[in-house]
Amino acid sequence: MSESMQGLRRSHRCTEVSAAQIGTDVTVMGWVQKSRNKGGIIFVDLRDRSGILQIIFEESDCGPENFAKAEKLRSEFVIAVTGRVETRSGGENKNLATGAIEVRAESLRILSESETPPFPIEENSKTKEELRLKYRYLDLRRPDIQRNMMLRSNIAVLTRQFLAEEGFLEIETPTLIKSTPEGARDYLVPSRVHPGSFYALPQSPQIFKQLLMCSGYDRYFQLARCYRDEDLRADRQPEFTQIDMELSFVDVDDVLDVNERLMAKLFKELLNVDIPQPIPRMTWREAMDRYGSDKPDLRFGMELKNVSDVVRDCEFVVFKGALEAGGTVRGINAKGQGAMPRKKIDALVEFAKGFGAKGLAYVAIQPDRTRKSSFAKFMRDEEMEKLVSAMEGEAGDLLLFAADQNKVVWDVLGNLRLELARQLDLLKKDDFKFLWVTEFPLLEYSQEQERFVAMHHPFTMPMEEDWHLIDSDPGAVRAKAYDIVLNGTELGGGSVRIHQNDIQSKMFEVLGFTPEQAQEQFGFLLTAFQYGVPPHAGLAYGLDRVAMLMGGCDSIRDVIAFPKVKDASCLMCEAPSPVDIKQLEELRIEVSEETPAKA
Ligand code: ASP
Repeated sequence: MSESMQGLRRSHRCTEVSAAQIGTDVTVMGWVQKSRNKGGIIFVDLRDRSGILQIIFEESDCGPENFAKAEKLRSEFVIAVTGRVETRSGGENKNLATGAIEVRAESLRILSESETPPFPIEENSKTKEELRLKYRYLDLRRPDIQRNMMLRSNIAVLTRQFLAEEGFLEIETPTLIKSTPEGARDYLVPSRVHPGSFYALPQSPQIFKQLLMCSGYDRYFQLARCYRDEDLRADRQPEFTQIDMELSFVDVDDVLDVNERLMAKLFKELLNVDIPQPIPRMTWREAMDRYGSDKPDLRFGMELKNVSDVVRDCEFVVFKGALEAGGTVRGINAKGQGAMPRKKIDALVEFAKGFGAKGLAYVAIQPDRTRKSSFAKFMRDEEMEKLVSAMEGEAGDLLLFAADQNKVVWDVLGNLRLELARQLDLLKKDDFKFLWVTEFPLLEYSQEQERFVAMHHPFTMPMEEDWHLIDSDPGAVRAKAYDIVLNGTELGGGSVRIHQNDIQSKMFEVLGFTPEQAQEQFGFLLTAFQYGVPPHAGLAYGLDRVAMLMGGCDSIRDVIAFPKVKDASCLMCEAPSPVDIKQLEELRIEVSEETPAKA
């Protein structure tokens, strides 16, 4: 039996009721968290998104009819209660915001009943994620997820407020757009009106925001939904939200400035954390050399050291071979880990192999300064001394070395460094270390496509001082591109854009486009730029990542209301799904695989 709201009005959310209302009547509504019948007196924990409030039912206050209803209450029933606020009879519950008070019910309406939920609605759920995602609407009732959603909402609201105050206009761009194969794979949407033609869902509003600059809007932002049809890695979503922005008449510093103030505002107002201003900067090259990563986690040290020169003359074939092949030898010093058992070191070697290392060379310095090492026998004593001192190795330290092409060495040691930090519990979630990584390479060579591809995207401005290398050594040209990194996660990235047609044409040429292909794909942008385009630059954050790190969550699924799982499906609504054959016929689409459309 469900009762209606007729004549009833909620006066407070649960935790808005406080000692200030003692002696007055309130009307509260929400879900029954739990209900205990102590014979003649029924205690109900009432929950809404604000928290929990204790309600007491006694027949003498609420009358026999309401009391009979209260006896039927079970978890997740939705109820409305009017009653008097009192000091809590059983003493204060310090765990609750409303722990000093309770509401003595005078009337009760059961607004709707509930089946027993498939898992308890509680904080820190032990329920498997698959089950929670299948019943996401119930999972979303849990206080920790509700906190995440409220945090996310606050981030969005504050971002809008800040950017509006800074003179940005919020402008929407289309989500049915032209497919451009550069970048990740597009999600395609068939056109019924133009059979055989397809829209793409945007991977980002990139081209449109650049056109808005061309149109004079000067400063734009949008909380934009973006889509990328990638093979899903653990913590990716096929659709995600960007805080996307673009600014005219600016250079790198202007973009960085407004964004470090945005971050400072969010962190101060939502977490009471002070973000240093300005946020430190590091070039891509320095980040790779010191941390083996373009998104270094600065919560701990353990920096990489290039010891190529130190070991150049040694006879250890692994080092020698790598150096002769044009690679490097680099190491990290795991301070105080010299006593690590052999088994654990072997596991680190296996871990390193997962990132392309052929092996890992190590030196474990014992408390008495003797050394256990995988390669000492190939080294002269003074060579080893020199190596240890180059690594600032002291008694009790574990030195780990990788020797290979730079790219492999960086990747191996960069990841090993993080793995050690995880094992040693050095990664504190409430320690926020921001960093700008700047001067990314403009291009990167794709072995797969046997050509250079844009490291950021094809509209990124090269650094003027490197542009003369574009033909002779394209890989050495740096870009006016930057990423904002927090605790080893890339929160966002952007660049100054090319606004000169000659540079843009050259860029397309280097990327292997014929002028016709460039025209076919980006013609409208190139044409637009012939009508007066201001210098412009921009940046986009992954809002989901921002919320995840601010909320101290382990997964972006925890900050997305209805996320998808690794295979890009939704466990709740079961998308994607076969569609009616009639729908396909209208689109002139035939499915060739065994998986048929619904009859
Ligand atoms: N559109 C870019 C991206 O999604 C960001 C930017 O350059 O503004 O990565």
